[in-house]
Amino acid sequence: MKRELALAWLQRPLDFLLEAAAELRPGRRLTYSRKVFLPVTNLCRDRCSYCTFRKSSRDPRAHTMAPEEIRSQSRRARQAGCKEALMCLGDRPETAYPSYARLLDSYGAASTAAYVEQACRLALEEGLLPHTNAGVLTREEMQLLQPVNVSLGLMLENVSERLCQPGGPHASASDKRPRVRLGMLREAGELGIPFTTGLLIGIGETAEERVDTLLAIRELSEEFGHIQETIVQPFRSKSDTPMAAAGEPDDEQLARTVALARLILGPRANLQAPPNLSPAGHRLLIRSGLNDWGGISPLTRDFINPEAPWPHLAELARTCEQEGFTLAERLAVYPEHFEQVHPDLRERVQRAQQGLPDREPVLA
Ligand code: SF4
Repeated sequence: MKRELALAWLQRPLDFLLEAAAELRPGRRLTYSRKVFLPVTNLCRDRCSYCTFRKSSRDPRAHTMAPEEIRSQSRRARQAGCKEALMCLGDRPETAYPSYARLLDSYGAASTAAYVEQACRLALEEGLLPHTNAGVLTREEMQLLQPVNVSLGLMLENVSERLCQPGGPHASASDKRPRVRLGMLREAGELGIPFTTGLLIGIGETAEERVDTLLAIRELSEEFGHIQETIVQPFRSKSDTPMAAAGEPDDEQLARTVALARLILGPRANLQAPPNLSPAGHRLLIRSGLNDWGGISPLTRDFINPEAPWPHLAELARTCEQEGFTLAERLAVYPEHFEQVHPDLRERVQRAQQGLPDREPVLA
């Protein structure tokens, strides 16, 4: 689909747009990943205007998980039926905080990426499959993490350079420069790493910039075949951030963007919207053509959006059933990308896949 046509679709009535997108979605199955969210460190060298996750080293809430904490949380997660260890952390904090660099040194790690590699090995030992989103990584860092992750992730967020200008949400976040992020997505493709990306909507972008972001994802996906899923995430304001008073996209805007993503990315794309960020919009989202709800944790909160609890799985399953779909668990790598998983992990992935139930039980 060309840019002009995509923009024209956005002008269509909601029902028309959703129906066209939903028709493209293959099957009657919606998936989710049962995960534990491991915020390896909430230190970050960037300052995005909407972020409540990031803390400075002097903030008493700053925290870097020690190896034993990673191990014990992974063990608890496995006991709670989780399969995925989501390693989620700030961007390259060792370049901003000498005390953190010394802490890494005490753990025998020369960089955050090296420490995450250790963390992933601990999670693997406890029976989980790691998926890491550590911000922008170099090619060498991705190569380090590839044998211990079934997939990697980086939200593209938006390709607009405008959002990085003074006053924009990414003005103080050098790692949010679109060309930097596009460069990492490209290198991940060259390395053949199953990759999760997506866009963040409602941070001041225009409709054209949303379309351009989706087109950029499609281009990379077509060139390398490594984009395993695309997330459409709505901005949610946080009271302790510079964007506390900024308006949030409503469920209709979110559904329209999911539908547009389906139309642009096509029937084979895995398309996700986080259910905890639009708790009243699940039915609308199902109608908009998504096929995945992302990671849901029975154990840990969403540390990026701590105000938004995960839905009860059995309730989500019931909503899916009422809309004519089943809810089923998936791994942190989608089956069509198993072949791209590093050989060291493939057997684990196959075994884990065989152990998945067909569907989530529905609440009576
Ligand atoms: S959104 Fe990510 S990159 Fe931006 S400040 Fe927060 S942790 Fe850092």
